[in-house]
Amino acid sequence: MSVTRFVDSRSDEFPLRAPDAAALRRMVRGEVVAPGDVTYDQARKVWNGMVDRRPAAVVYCAGSDDVVAAVKFARSRSLLVAVRAGGHNIGGASVCDGGLVIDVSRMKQIEVDPVKRTARAQAGLNLGEFDAATQAHGLATTMGINSDTGIAGLTLGGGFGKLGRKYGLTCDNLVSVEIVTADGRLLRASTSEHPDLFWAVRGGGGNFGIVTRLEYRLFPIGPMLLSGSLSYPYDRARDAMRFYHAFAKAAPDELSLDAALATTLAGERVFSISTCYVGPIDEGERIIKPLRVYGAPIQDQVAPRCYLEIQSAGDAVFPRGRRYYWKAQFLRELSDAAIDTLLAVYLAAPAESLLVLQQVGGAIARLPVNATPYANRDALYDCFPISIWDDPTEDAARIRWAREAWDAMRPFSTGGVYANNLGEEGTERIEAAYGENHARLRALKNKYDPTNFFRLNQNIAPSAEAAGDGGG
Ligand SMILES: Cc1cc2nc3c(=O)[nH]c(=O)nc-3n(C[C@H](O)[C@H](O)[C@H](O)COP(=O)(O)OP(=O)(O)OC[C@H]3O[C@@H](n4cnc5c(N)ncnc54)[C@H](O)[C@@H]3O)c2cc1C
Repeated sequence: MSVTRFVDSRSDEFPLRAPDAAALRRMVRGEVVAPGDVTYDQARKVWNGMVDRRPAAVVYCAGSDDVVAAVKFARSRSLLVAVRAGGHNIGGASVCDGGLVIDVSRMKQIEVDPVKRTARAQAGLNLGEFDAATQAHGLATTMGINSDTGIAGLTLGGGFGKLGRKYGLTCDNLVSVEIVTADGRLLRASTSEHPDLFWAVRGGGGNFGIVTRLEYRLFPIGPMLLSGSLSYPYDRARDAMRFYHAFAKAAPDELSLDAALATTLAGERVFSISTCYVGPIDEGERIIKPLRVYGAPIQDQVAPRCYLEIQSAGDAVFPRGRRYYWKAQFLRELSDAAIDTLLAVYLAAPAESLLVLQQVGGAIARLPVNATPYANRDALYDCFPISIWDDPTEDAARIRWAREAWDAMRPFSTGGVYANNLGEEGTERIEAAYGENHARLRALKNKYDPTNFFRLNQNIAPSAEAAGDGGG
């Protein structure tokens, strides 16, 4: 078998043997795509068009048995492994150069129990598919607003969405998972089975294994909710942002208020607030009224909308294949100085850029910090500049603007960051995502993945002694 040298973009150099795709094909029910196959270029793509990596093979698992086989295959050949569900990681962690991509995106079964109000979903569902299946029973749980994000990556890193302030993060509503660990075992983890592993996957990302099935708690939702955006011109944005912050801070859990500095199709810069009231429409009308009457918005699109439409609001803004860069940090306050800084940095933003404030708090903030690995429960906003473009010659300028915007907002940050909004930003930022929970995550990494087999993620590196133990 040939041996190639592969440089892991995050750490040290280590040897990889080229995978034998034919052998892998014999071991799994699903499709294996390798260089030279007509679908190879499609198979190596992820959501962010900036990511251009060439794995040695992509295995589209047909079920948990395929995931077990793929893990054992990769282990036996010391292959670098990337794990992919929806392919939305901003830095492209779910595809690698030279290694094996274990892809679960074709595993799409879902069973909804309308009496118990639970859903058992295979890990390949995207948010739109999950929401459609649960809404068929008038139910839902917290999920994000871009319908082709994967439920697996979103849930394992936390999970923000319009229902989050009322019902908590997606991971807070996880009841159990089925997971293939680094030694190739298929385990069920819940509060009663492997409870330490269950704790770890509720925010600890892909560090502990490949999740094949996720069981969620559901809530009666919709089908119609009061939702939509209000926009203010840039010359009135400062006051609108001050009003927004005061309103958001006092908002009931039912109200979600995300916001952004954005540019209209006509090229006009605006401050835009995206509202959603998780409750009866008339109650929502009453609660949102102060916002609607404040300061004469230039656009008011707040109206009763179908929950599934609300949940795909991001689709048109973030289609697959364009080039994207973002960098996030949490804020607890939006001081006048922070508002002035946001307004100033956005003036220098290239076309199509956004400066987003995603509101959190509410039920998310009421769980103790160590209830799950997700540590930044005291934040009120996730603040992140987003660059969107198509021309590769603009890469440097687009990335520079987002980084400069992030740097400018740094003095106002809590220091924390949402793991699911991290690209390749290094161990310090990963520790900032997990805070005091990082040490416990590392101890569990030592137990469940001592050789760091699952390393292409927001990596919790095992301690050197654990790796030395071999770990099967
Ligand atoms: C356009 C867009 C909109 C977004 N909106 C939201 C939002 O509203 N709310 C929110 O919370 N987040 C949001 N995110 C962030 C999103 O939660 C993360 O990017 C998440 O990691 C995506 O999951 P995925 O399965 O699509 O990604 P992938 O790129 O497939 O996976 C990302 C990582 O998750 C891990 N992983 C994936 N599948 C598995 C598995 N089966 N088992 C174990 N580990 C696995 C791996 O470590 C992998 O590297 C958004 C991202 C994008 C690009």
